[in-house]
Amino acid sequence: MADAIDATIVRRWVREAARSIGEQRQHLTDLDAAIGDADHGVNMDRGFRAAVDRVDALAADASPGAILRTVGAAVMSSVGGASGPLWGMAFRRAGQQLGDDVTLDGPALAGAFDQIVQAMRGLGKAEVGDKTMLDALVPAAETFRARIEGGDALPDALTAACRAAEVGVQATIPLQARKGRASYLGERSVGHQDPGATSAALILRALEAALAADPA
Ligand code: ADP
Ligand code: MG
Repeated sequence: MADAIDATIVRRWVREAARSIGEQRQHLTDLDAAIGDADHGVNMDRGFRAAVDRVDALAADASPGAILRTVGAAVMSSVGGASGPLWGMAFRRAGQQLGDDVTLDGPALAGAFDQIVQAMRGLGKAEVGDKTMLDALVPAAETFRARIEGGDALPDALTAACRAAEVGVQATIPLQARKGRASYLGERSVGHQDPGATSAALILRALEAALAADPA
């Protein structure tokens, strides 16, 4: 399994994220039906399909950063809901952070995850506990960085980050939403899993799968 991430793995990540979100589209929409407007699966599916198309059209030698910037632009321009600008900005910032480096090691990926979190915080003004995708992404980014700094190999750190994201997803259930559409429900948002946190965990697992599929 690879201990660094190159453009081939990033392309595989985008494709696997699109596949997983497509597969879970109805589930994500059902979650959003309970506390939102029943479009989260549709939004994310549209965004990641557009991302795959745009990434496929890139030059063969596009860097990981260039690929992520393209994903950001595709998601931003194709998704109308809150998740479009948030993920669009997040991928764009992560791609900018990576510049045009050809491979990413653990610390570089930790930096990219931090950018994803910071972009979402900056745009959406949510914090952990507000019942949003940050409830999955913040613990994942923190766990990943701590594991890398503790000497874990990249795939192990990523698996730990995925688990932290999934714990964060479950932790959204008892929360009352304080941001986004679900916040309009007040106490009635309690008892439901957040759709945006759920898709965020899928996106992280897609990177794990893309890395595990690497023969190197
Ligand atoms: P919309 O709410 O516009 O219909 P989506 O249904 O695609 O958009 O996305 C809803 C998800 O977006 C929520 O489940 C939540 O995780 C996330 N979200 C909403 N507002 C914010 C925010 N201000 N910051 C971070 N995430 C947010
Ligand atoms: Mg919605």
